[in-house]
Amino acid sequence: MLEIRTVRAAEHALEVSPRDEFNNKLIANVHPPEWRNPDPAPRYNLVVIGAGTAGLVTAAGAAGLGARVALIERSLMGGDCLNVGCVPSKSVIRSSRVCADIREARNFGIDAPAGATADFSAVMERMRRIRSGISRHDSAHRFADLGVDVFLGDAKFAGPDTVEVAGKTLRFKKAALATGARAIAPPIDGLREAGYLTNETVFNLTELPRSLLVIGGGPIGCELAQAFCRLGSEVTIVEIGEQLLGREDQEAAEILARSLERDGVQIRLSASVKRVTSNGLAKVVCLESGGRQETISVDEILVGAGRAPNVEGLNLEAAGVEYDRKKGVVVNDHLQTTNPRIYAAGDVCLQYKFTHTADAAARIVIQNALFLGRKRLSALTVPWCTYTDPEIAHVGLYEREANERGISVDTFQIPLSGIDRAIADGEEEGFVKIHVKKGSDRILGATIMARHAGEMISEITLAMVGKVGLGTIASVIHPYPTQAEAIKRAADAYNRTRLTPFVKGLLERWLAWVRLMLRERLRVEAVAEKASGARRVSVFLRLFARRHC
Ligand SMILES: Cc1cc2nc3c(=O)[nH]c(=O)nc-3n(C[C@H](O)[C@H](O)[C@H](O)COP(=O)(O)OP(=O)(O)OC[C@H]3O[C@@H](n4cnc5c(N)ncnc54)[C@H](O)[C@@H]3O)c2cc1C
Repeated sequence: MLEIRTVRAAEHALEVSPRDEFNNKLIANVHPPEWRNPDPAPRYNLVVIGAGTAGLVTAAGAAGLGARVALIERSLMGGDCLNVGCVPSKSVIRSSRVCADIREARNFGIDAPAGATADFSAVMERMRRIRSGISRHDSAHRFADLGVDVFLGDAKFAGPDTVEVAGKTLRFKKAALATGARAIAPPIDGLREAGYLTNETVFNLTELPRSLLVIGGGPIGCELAQAFCRLGSEVTIVEIGEQLLGREDQEAAEILARSLERDGVQIRLSASVKRVTSNGLAKVVCLESGGRQETISVDEILVGAGRAPNVEGLNLEAAGVEYDRKKGVVVNDHLQTTNPRIYAAGDVCLQYKFTHTADAAARIVIQNALFLGRKRLSALTVPWCTYTDPEIAHVGLYEREANERGISVDTFQIPLSGIDRAIADGEEEGFVKIHVKKGSDRILGATIMARHAGEMISEITLAMVGKVGLGTIASVIHPYPTQAEAIKRAADAYNRTRLTPFVKGLLERWLAWVRLMLRERLRVEAVAEKASGARRVSVFLRLFARRHC
């Protein structure tokens, strides 16, 4: 018996608007209104709950290896990344970069019209077009074609090996929890009543807010603050910590703050929102920063101040799965929950909430859950990037983390202002900073700040994963001119430190000896030359005498 998805599933559905051709196509792919859930198999090798990155990768990988797989999604397949995260944010950021480039055009000798403005509604339409195009990869029909039984509805455990969805009961040998996380708002007086945007609603906008208050100076807050400012909003960002991007390299965070301020973003650090009221026309926000009170009026408030794992409503108790409302589902290093049949992947359990970590965790789950694998989460080397302009990418340890762990490091830093390509591109703001274990070339971590730092960090990640030392990177030819040359320069800088006074003394003596030998050879050749000159003269005189005398 086939059954149309339940109304309850729609309760959790992300609101997608406007309902134009692109959003209709998106919905048709990721939550088809006419979808009929299949009849469940008697028992699944794997039931996957949540069809974001972690769930999709787990389901597709397992089905591809021959497992009988069910995938359950209550809202939009593709999860946050496709619908309200990476894809829409990076599309909007791209448009905002064009805006910034046009404003800078005169510095490049281009006579761009002064005061070029963004057509926000066209920017958002472009984003919706891109998102709907990409959505076919995550579509319900595509996954059904891959051999996955796709169920649209709210999943809830009924026991340690049983899940219920839309009135059906699925029994499993193994299950994977991949229910992700959601935006949370801090408990601020009047915020809820005044209304606010999160990443779940901001991409529905079709009109640019004239002014925007961004609560939270983390990656989401910084990326969207800069993008909206460049597109024409008056943006203020409020961060409770002492720097933007709290866990990032301090120097990088300071450069970013300067870059945002140049764009026109107002930054309030060590600041918090005390109260919000609405006067019908605007939201009036009372801030406290550095002991001073300030009141500003804005059209919209965007909250990017943290995320909470989706652990509620799953009846995890019935399955014997322990969880924490803040940290998410408890897993061991093999991503196994407290119910050995059930694994977890992605934002619901990971500290690093990224699409690429969700993907990597899913691959671990497939091997460990289905094939007696013993893959470990702790073995992963995880890079990340904040897509501001310039971008900040990082992998491994920060210097302060190394210090906290009692590991001494040597740091090699190359400013982009010394890199020809960065100079030619007018992108000199930034640096490559690589930390190695003191006295060795073992790379422990790196931060790159550059316009395309996200593209550059993989070279360092590869070196770390492949245990390639910084010294070896010095012998890798980097095409000239590229900004990645800064990485090679850092490696060259490392190689120069191998020149200890002893080695330097040896080299100096060797070179002095080479010079001495050269001088001696030249002297011997000169003597020989003189002798052969004298011989030539005497031969000439003898011939001359024979002929003429
Ligand atoms: C604005 C923004 C920008 C981002 N940009 C980047 C970026 O540039 N790069 C990057 O790497 N990461 C980025 N991220 C993070 C990235 O989106 C997440 O890390 C990633 O989507 C996590 O995937 P997931 O599968 O764990 O969870 P999700 O994508 O959240 O998927 C979980 C799914 O489970 C479903 N679900 C939950 N409960 C149930 C239930 N009971 N029954 C059925 N289904 C359920 C949900 O509806 C959802 O579809 C960004 C996030 C945001 C918010």
